[in-house]
Amino acid sequence: MSYPKTITKTIRPFNYVHPQTLAMAVSFLNELGDKAKLLAGGTDLLPLMKQRAIVPEYVINIKDIVGLVFILDEDELRIGALTTIVKLRDSIILRNRYASIFEATTAFATPQIRNLATIGGNICRSSPAADMVPPLIAFDAEVKLVGPRGNRRVPLKDFFTGVGRNVLDKEILTEIIIPHPRKSYGTAFEKIERASADLAKINCAVRVSITNKCCDDIRIALGAVAETPVRATKTEQALIGEILSEKIIESALQRVAEDISPITDVRSTAAYRAQVSKVLVGRAIRRAMKSIAQ
Ligand SMILES: Cc1cc2nc3c(=O)[nH]c(=O)nc-3n(C[C@H](O)[C@H](O)[C@H](O)COP(=O)(O)OP(=O)(O)OC[C@H]3O[C@@H](n4cnc5c(N)ncnc54)[C@H](O)[C@@H]3O)c2cc1C
Repeated sequence: MSYPKTITKTIRPFNYVHPQTLAMAVSFLNELGDKAKLLAGGTDLLPLMKQRAIVPEYVINIKDIVGLVFILDEDELRIGALTTIVKLRDSIILRNRYASIFEATTAFATPQIRNLATIGGNICRSSPAADMVPPLIAFDAEVKLVGPRGNRRVPLKDFFTGVGRNVLDKEILTEIIIPHPRKSYGTAFEKIERASADLAKINCAVRVSITNKCCDDIRIALGAVAETPVRATKTEQALIGEILSEKIIESALQRVAEDISPITDVRSTAAYRAQVSKVLVGRAIRRAMKSIAQ
């Protein structure tokens, strides 16, 4: 009996580097450059290495670097890059105050994958379908990058440059920073997939603030509908300053198609994505409105 080549392929031999500190990891990455790949949970990297889509000469395991697993609610909400999806799901802070991030963790893969996968890996893989990214963008998250030339903070919405591409330049993402929203808000995450535990056909997150019945602030972010995760700014503009009646919401949803550029791939067709994006954004807006703290 013969098996498909993708199953029988083995990972090509590589050199293994296991730094215990961030400084050591940055130094190795700087020295090895494109020959090396960072390994966190390995749930994206190792399947790609098995398919030989990526064949690194060196693998730098950063999973045991101390001090990159945390969820701290101080002047800002800060999440360490090596925090696993299951730790995020179990956080009371996220469940109570950042519901869309919590909801994304519950829609994420299987228990086995959630135990290994890190939030930093989800962002740095830079898949347009990454589930943790739309809720973080809707909260105006920034990422802290540490490299040989020091540290910098980049808005997450500007981090991605294409499918699987980002602004990292021999840098390690160490934490995600979310400024405390100034107004009271409601938030929600929605995802459609082919089967449970699959990557999204489409995902989206909304954060909305309402004052005197008027929408005075809204963020809408979508995944898997363009080369990178996107903000639906035209749809947002159609809602800001309005009383969010069903008529206004339905009219604004007609703008979603202008905010996205979906493609046809193994998970879905462009036409389906264009149509269903409107439905998902509508659901997320309505649930976010209902969840606003009174
Ligand atoms: C069966 C299965 C189901 C899945 N389902 C989902 C799903 O429902 N939703 C979803 O979003 N994803 C899903 N994924 C994809 C994957 O689990 C996630 O993207 C995961 O969060 C990746 O994190 P990781 O720690 O395993 O990353 P790794 O595989 O270790 O790394 C991914 C990439 O990011 C780089 N990297 C990792 N950490 C850093 C860092 N701190 N700084 C710089 N670069 C870094 C690595 O070099 C690598 O290129 C699934 C994967 C599998 C195998």
